[in-house]
Amino acid sequence: MGYKKITNFVKDLFQEEKVPLAVPVFVGNEKKYLDDCIDTTFVSSVGAYVDRFEKDVAEYTKCSHAVVTASGTTALHMSLILARVEQDDEVLTQALTFIATCNALSYIGAHPVFIDVDKDTMGLSPFAVREWCAKNGVIKDEQLFNKKTGRRVKAVVPMHTFGHPIHLDEMVEVCKEYHLQLVEDAAESIGSLYKGKHTGTFGVVGALSFNGNKTITTGGGGMMLFQDEKLAEFGKHLTTQAKVPHRWEFKHDHIGYNYRMPNINAALGCAQLEHIEEYVASKRKTANEYEQFFKNVPDITFFTEPENCRSNYWLNVVLLKDKVAQQNFLQYTNDNGVMTRPIWELMNRLPMFENCETDGLKNTEWFADRVVNIPSSVRI
Ligand SMILES: *Cc1c(COP(=O)(O)O)cnc(C)c1O
Repeated sequence: MGYKKITNFVKDLFQEEKVPLAVPVFVGNEKKYLDDCIDTTFVSSVGAYVDRFEKDVAEYTKCSHAVVTASGTTALHMSLILARVEQDDEVLTQALTFIATCNALSYIGAHPVFIDVDKDTMGLSPFAVREWCAKNGVIKDEQLFNKKTGRRVKAVVPMHTFGHPIHLDEMVEVCKEYHLQLVEDAAESIGSLYKGKHTGTFGVVGALSFNGNKTITTGGGGMMLFQDEKLAEFGKHLTTQAKVPHRWEFKHDHIGYNYRMPNINAALGCAQLEHIEEYVASKRKTANEYEQFFKNVPDITFFTEPENCRSNYWLNVVLLKDKVAQQNFLQYTNDNGVMTRPIWELMNRLPMFENCETDGLKNTEWFADRVVNIPSSVRI
């Protein structure tokens, strides 16, 4: 089958001549809530929408507490601080991710160790993590150390790639066994469930992103999901300049951060969240139509959600036969009105991380040569 049939299918599906990859939709109370911010002058770092958005997201994800941040990246940075990752610690993560995951580690002075992903999830493999720990780790005083470098291995940061949950039960298990803190990069997976439970709620902290291209958006913003009230409170404290509450005094008891989300962004978020289940349903319907269509396309496979999961299908994925086919497909679709993208350049191939340890990354490299993201906006 020629690629023209594919681009025609995508254009018909989205009923557009030029189809973008992922754009937001605003069909609810967005304008009303924004007007309310302006009318009341509460546009900045305090306001009722901030509190409400935190409550609404906590309720939606069924975590005990949620704390908003200025972005997904700042949510990740703060999550790692709260998981007590320190300078010169090592953190096990995937090379197949968006740069923000590794940037957040670097802000702390921690070192990523890149471990392979699973073929059925595209996310960090708990089986590969276990293998690496068994081979390279040594436990002393309930802490894991890398035998080669002597550094402490403090945490594991899996990312739920394009909304597909990783094998979370197994990851929780291996983290317990090796005394590792689990911090989930759930930036792409709001609305995605693993065995009925929301991604980002399995570890000590989970980070969400509400950037403009994500499933719901606040313009820019993020959220941390907690199970522990004390830790959530401390997170809120650190993200708001660590100011000691007082009616007029300015006293601070830690190095704090201005990682707040302004009220106008939270207002957008409240309105978006009211429709999230419709958005996820729409994305899943699109995924299903792609799946049926690509069944009849030779040499291209549509990537489907892992077993026992409900994926939000944030960005749909097709797998091409090899690197040459991938490049040809990217060229044709982008030349013909259908926006498509390859996967991010692998982290271990970037100059900042090229000397980091890896476990060989067999599946990771297999995906890098084949993945193409195809249009995935909500259709309402
Ligand atoms: C979007 C994203 C983030 C956070 O991005 P922000 O733009 O800072 O909100 C982090 N990790 C991954 C994997 C992402 O896709």
